[in-house]
Amino acid sequence: MHPNIKKILVSEEAIQTRSAELGKQITQEYSAKGQVPICVAILKGSVPFLVTLIKHIEMDIEFDFMAVSSYEGTESIGDVKIIMDLNRSIKGEHILLVEDIVDTGRTLKEVTKLLINKGAETVKIVSLLDKPSRRVIDINADYVGFTIPNEFVVGFGLDFNEKYRNLPYVGVLKDECYQ
Ligand code: 5GP
Repeated sequence: MHPNIKKILVSEEAIQTRSAELGKQITQEYSAKGQVPICVAILKGSVPFLVTLIKHIEMDIEFDFMAVSSYEGTESIGDVKIIMDLNRSIKGEHILLVEDIVDTGRTLKEVTKLLINKGAETVKIVSLLDKPSRRVIDINADYVGFTIPNEFVVGFGLDFNEKYRNLPYVGVLKDECYQ
């Protein structure tokens, strides 16, 4: 375990197992409707989850990326800004947004609105983590890996000041790391 990690909340093994389950469920549900989604991952935090998840989606999917501003340190900085947009048309497409964590819900609300405005036929959300106790916007992911308590987490894509994204598990930092 990394020396700055106080505890592991979601193990590497649990992430792998749950990603396989989600991939199977996504495959079944989209296939049943005759739809093939475009997976849109929000940089940078959702990259490890995207990479893990898509190996278990058994359809000829495409994936693309968007970047939005969200957090500085551990606090929200308010309005969500689109830093990098999709550069292809998504008119009439079925979008599966891939997120690392749903916290207040602000990011997903804004990104979903943007994708609908661009003409997406449907927008669904898959998130590795969900922190429902922090929600300020009434929005939920369609597929959730793990529901976690109100703690600031790092690892498997999630950072603290850009570090710890490469940890293979999700954990909580020791208190002294914030001083
Ligand atoms: P929301 O817009 O739902 O409040 O926040 C979503 C974004 O905030 C996530 O994509 C993530 O980048 C960041 N975030 C929210 N909670 C955490 C957390 O516990 N740890 C880290 N590292 N980032 C978080």
